[in-house]
Amino acid sequence: MIDPFGRTISYIRVSVTDRCDFRCVYCMAEDMTFLPKSDLLALEELDRLCSAFVRKGVKKIRLTGGEPLVRRNLMSLVRNLSRHLQTGALEELTLTTNGSQLAKYAGELAAAGVKRVNVSVDTLDPVKFEAITRGGKLPTVLDGIAAAQAAGLAIKINTVALKGVNDGDLDALLEWCGRDGLDMTLIETMPMGEVDHQRADRYLSLAEARRTLAKRWTLEDIAHRTGGPARYVRVKETGRKLGFITPLSHNFCESCNRVRVTCTGTLYMCLGQDDAADLRAPLRASESDDLLDTAIDAAIRRKPKGHDFVIERAAPAVQRHMSVTGG
Ligand code: SAM
Ligand code: SF4
Repeated sequence: MIDPFGRTISYIRVSVTDRCDFRCVYCMAEDMTFLPKSDLLALEELDRLCSAFVRKGVKKIRLTGGEPLVRRNLMSLVRNLSRHLQTGALEELTLTTNGSQLAKYAGELAAAGVKRVNVSVDTLDPVKFEAITRGGKLPTVLDGIAAAQAAGLAIKINTVALKGVNDGDLDALLEWCGRDGLDMTLIETMPMGEVDHQRADRYLSLAEARRTLAKRWTLEDIAHRTGGPARYVRVKETGRKLGFITPLSHNFCESCNRVRVTCTGTLYMCLGQDDAADLRAPLRASESDDLLDTAIDAAIRRKPKGHDFVIERAAPAVQRHMSVTGG
């Protein structure tokens, strides 16, 4: 799949549910209304959809949400998709998780061929963690991370940088990652969906975060790229990678290799644009995948050049929450 700007699409991120057992302040409103379960793609439909993309050359699938591990029977989807790893058609099957259920599923994930997972942790202060996630328990997440490491999974910690909330915690997080053999990525808040505060108040530029971290750590630029928005450095003192995802202060679209599918089968060609293609109707219209394939091809031909995020705007750049499209 090659889009109009010559970018090869080799990576899909698939949201398997919009539900979550946390309510992170930057991601969701406290009283989120979730989709009726009947709107969601069945696990078999998700498998068909992912497999169509693999046939078209996708090499990497990331399952996300919402919280992917709260989707009932998710492990059956993971096991089924792992057949594409065995044939070599798919190079990587991975997921982004809040870690709350990781202790339970780490072994099964590893057995299905998952090699690494991203786990979101914004602070190592349990009280603050509970406040940011509106109820999440840090010890449970840390147990999940330990279980995943014991199962042989590599872990990258995702941390959303929030001014006045966790800017003072980044140093301790980096130290912990160094000690426990974890990579880390810092993410700027993106204006997606209404939340209960003004995002501009919490926006912390990662250039500023980097300057602060550089007072204590030696950050060496490295060439590592994933085709995504992250730019990486190596922390000399620990040997671990540190990534910066800066969609607002730095545009990354020229190397974009990905598209996203929601849990209802809507394909978004860009995280920061509203144009989308419905894949659920063609999935359900026939048992053959012809209609689905045609819909995917037509959508990739419309992938836009780039996003449109501006944090200062009063309204979110896109109305949907991150939990709809997946992070
Ligand atoms: N529940 C899982 C988790 O938290 O890792 C997966 C889904 S979550 C939407 C994926 C990532 O998006 C998380 O690392 C989260 O911190 C990040 N995220 C959510 N809302 C965001 C926002 N408005 N701006 C930037 N990152 C956001
Ligand atoms: Fe849930 Fe992840 Fe959103 Fe937090 S960031 S509310 S854990 S989906």
